[in-house]
Amino acid sequence: MELKIGHLYPDLMNLYGDRGNIIVLTRRCSWHGIKATVEEIRTGEEKRAAECDVVFIGGGQDREQKQVAWDLRDRQGPALRAAAADGVVILGICGGYQLLGHEFRTGTGEVLPGTGILDLVTVGGGKRLIGNIAVASDLLGGKTLVGFENHSGKTYLGEGAKPLGKVLAGYGNNGEDGTEGAYHRNVVGTYLHGSVLPKNPWLADYLLAKAVERRGGTLKLREIDDQLERTAHAAALHQVGLGGKMEN
Ligand code: GLN
Repeated sequence: MELKIGHLYPDLMNLYGDRGNIIVLTRRCSWHGIKATVEEIRTGEEKRAAECDVVFIGGGQDREQKQVAWDLRDRQGPALRAAAADGVVILGICGGYQLLGHEFRTGTGEVLPGTGILDLVTVGGGKRLIGNIAVASDLLGGKTLVGFENHSGKTYLGEGAKPLGKVLAGYGNNGEDGTEGAYHRNVVGTYLHGSVLPKNPWLADYLLAKAVERRGGTLKLREIDDQLERTAHAAALHQVGLGGKMEN
């Protein structure tokens, strides 16, 4: 089995080590006996993210989001929307997550178009929502997810998107409704930087399992010794006052 991973806008959308997610995906693929190739796709390029099995887009400040928003909507968007409907795995972090929604109204009143892949909108707020965050994931049966968030955009979900989970500590989507992230089919968006996958390997394997399944693969993911990852996860829970209280 071979999986192609598309990394959208690695030069512009890469905050707080988001590229680490690509490293985790490729490394875990090799541990699972899956060959993985990574294709980096920058603005203006003809390469098509929609032809990949997994597409990743990291976070970026409003300025970088402006640079990629139109490319994402017009060049990659139409095929990517169809791919999402066909079960392609997409992971968006923070600024990338916001652009998977319908639109992002920045704090200065500018409207950046999104791809509309996830039913959500983001509105720029006056306050930065920043700090360590822990979430009880709905998608992964209550397993905790930990990370670091830093955004002023507040995201509100429509009926077509489900929250990735409930905030245990931190702000999440908007600091108001207790939700964090969103998912629909195999598309997952979250505010968790960190990067998110090294400290939450169950999310990485969930995404890889979905990509394998979509390709009709019968390959069962292997048991990986995640002791280090679990230690990092536990340390992050400890930082937000949840040490020893949550078991995954
Ligand atoms: N620019 C967005 C915000 O502040 C996203 C920031 C990020 O990706 N960390 O809301």
